[in-house]
Amino acid sequence: MPFKRPKFRAHVKAHKTVIGNERWFRKGSPFLGKPFTVKKAVERYATVVKILSRAGKRAARAGNDELADAYRHLRAKLKKCRPRRRCGSSACPKCARAFQRAKVAAEETIIADLANARADKHLVLVTIIPRHMTYRQGQFSQIDVLKANRWLKDVLARHGFDRVILGSVDRGF
Ligand SMILES: [Zn+2]
Repeated sequence: MPFKRPKFRAHVKAHKTVIGNERWFRKGSPFLGKPFTVKKAVERYATVVKILSRAGKRAARAGNDELADAYRHLRAKLKKCRPRRRCGSSACPKCARAFQRAKVAAEETIIADLANARADKHLVLVTIIPRHMTYRQGQFSQIDVLKANRWLKDVLARHGFDRVILGSVDRGF
């Protein structure tokens, strides 16, 4: 079966806006900490490209052509990532850093606005890791963020949770 390119179904405009603005790829505010500097992102990018290359070869040797094609396709996509022609893949450490910085900037603005508009409320930070949404290496393509988001909203609504919620999905491997 040939590699099937995933399609974004939502947040396309936000995605394009971030990868179209080099500000998010440079130094500056918001600063995400020493592990997420431009230099570290560039180093991680080189590492990820090498990992994808090795994984593609390993999959081809094992006879898994579909997986090998997927690794090769992703590697090729990341290799083309450069200023004003960003790949936009969340697997790309450069683009992932840009998305993270844009998200933090947006959250800082929203939180400041909410602090003024809802001064009687408290900000609560929560990390939710649903057991049924943990994946092993090689299963990341099964992650359906929109479905996960819908599930969480439904669960919270079913339990009478009626508050402003800011959130994001964080993936790591
Ligand atoms: Zn990229």
